[in-house]
Amino acid sequence: MQFDGGGNGYDAKDFFENMGGITYNDFILLPGHIDFSADEVELDADFTRNLRLKRPIVSSPMDTVTESKMAIYMALLGGIGIIHYNNTIEEQVRHVRLVKRFENGFITDPVVLGPDDTIADVDRIKEAYGFSGIPITEDGTIGSRLIGIVTRRDISFETNHSKKLREVMTTELVTAPVGISLQEGNRILKECKKGKLPIVDKEGRLVSLMSRTDLLKNEDFPYASKNKDKQLLVGAALSTKEEDKERLDELAKAGVDAVVIDSSQGDSVFQINMVKYIKKKYPHLEVVGGNVVTARQCKSLIDAGVDALRIGMGSGSICITQEALAVGRAQGSAVYHCAKFSREYAHIPVMADGGIANLGHITKALALGASTVMLGVMLAGTTEAPGEYFYEGGVRLKRYRGMASFEAMEAGGAKRYFSEEDRVKVAQGVAGAVVDRGSVVDMVQYLMQSLKHSLQDLGCRTISALHEVLYNGTLRFEARSPSAQAEGGVHGLYSYQDPHLGLFKQAVDRREL
Ligand code: GDP
Ligand code: GDP
Ligand code: 5GP
Repeated sequence: MQFDGGGNGYDAKDFFENMGGITYNDFILLPGHIDFSADEVELDADFTRNLRLKRPIVSSPMDTVTESKMAIYMALLGGIGIIHYNNTIEEQVRHVRLVKRFENGFITDPVVLGPDDTIADVDRIKEAYGFSGIPITEDGTIGSRLIGIVTRRDISFETNHSKKLREVMTTELVTAPVGISLQEGNRILKECKKGKLPIVDKEGRLVSLMSRTDLLKNEDFPYASKNKDKQLLVGAALSTKEEDKERLDELAKAGVDAVVIDSSQGDSVFQINMVKYIKKKYPHLEVVGGNVVTARQCKSLIDAGVDALRIGMGSGSICITQEALAVGRAQGSAVYHCAKFSREYAHIPVMADGGIANLGHITKALALGASTVMLGVMLAGTTEAPGEYFYEGGVRLKRYRGMASFEAMEAGGAKRYFSEEDRVKVAQGVAGAVVDRGSVVDMVQYLMQSLKHSLQDLGCRTISALHEVLYNGTLRFEARSPSAQAEGGVHGLYSYQDPHLGLFKQAVDRREL
């Protein structure tokens, strides 16, 4: 008998062109054929045209999700974080700098002091940047002769913090000559057992610095997203407002790798002009445009020059746009149609933003053509998210709020949703709380392992392979009735133990993951 493929669901084209607006819970993916182990699955993905990540995850530019701590861990884990802009230019830039300084190969602009500076100066540097290993040069600048180094060990028992550094610095130094390779520098660092390795030229002038902790960080986080200098990648959000051109300049100076233009309806002359302006002034800075949900909107921003698109309007967990303004799109349909158009039109990667509430949703977003997913609510309860934990009814919680909630707008977040002239502001988001999810390190590692199993079940070794089967019709979709959805969850039990509870403390039910 000839196998005709009958009864095997629908291909994406048939499914999405005939089903109206649908989203993640409305469909299920039918299994593929497995001929490899889950460990063989690779999760590399294009974040933008020119930035590729080892893990397809991005943290959202919200003031309860991404500041430097979250961005550092997202990058260490193989994704990227986007620093929010509900703050001053100085604050946003400070977060970007903290990420860029966190890990390095050669530190080419190390913080340097002179012999007449004091221990109190080292304290200030420790406070601002988190490190205290400071090379001392004759005149206190890089490029002048290296005469010593001050580290924690030299000053930890000193009570007089006005003491000059010439009195406490270590002067017997292990140094390496300029021109050595990173591998060679790492070898010397391992052998000499010192914490810092200054790199000097023939005249003994300081050129750069290497740090032993970077070797350890590299071993602990092998998938970290880094540039060629081994600095972590980081993005930052911007509005389309004229005054944010100054923000852009400062972010570019701080070494930001990508800017995300944050707007709930991206197809506007304001955004088109901003994209053109950025691509002209900083051709190597990656620009993510959005948000968009239709092919027509994608075309406007692709023609303006974006390097990636952010998809979603009204699908976020804290969002009330669809109800308040009656405009938006079901997220599954938005991701499918935008991803397909952007790939065919210009090979621009898209990011599925909003509405990702569990790990199955991540697989589904990628299966609809997204290259990466942007997470808000899933990360908001982690240790690395901004804000303090508090208790309510015995449950440990953290605040999570929409950037267009009244609360965030009061703190400065109305930029995304309103023009300056609006005297009455309409909320498009809510403020609330989420349960403690533990550390983002455990969570992301767990999510990525489960994503590998998902891709294995679909018979795909990579995200690109998943996109291949999506577009050649091999990947099959089927609608889920409400009772099929109930059947897919735990049901009929008097009680059960949540397998994830130990990992993410107090997750309320299985699908919360
Ligand atoms: P990797 O081992 O996959 O990171 O390979 P790369 O080609 O990126 O790195 C080349 C060398 O640099 C290897 O010896 C790495 O161990 C080392 N390396 C990679 N990242 C870092 C880093 O952040 N700091 C330092 N000091 N060395 C690094
Ligand atoms: P320290 O011993 O107090 O200097 O701190 P650690 O060695 O624990 O951490 C230093 C980390 O900060 C490393 O990952 C460096 O790559 C990073 N870093 C970035 N810029 C600088 C800098 O200017 N000086 C120093 N000492 N470290 C820097
Ligand atoms: P979540 O992952 O929580 O479902 O969605 C996060 C996304 O919701 C963000 O990345 C952003 O696109 C969107 N968002 C954030 N704040 C607001 C808001 O106040 N209103 C609306 N409409 N969307 C928001």
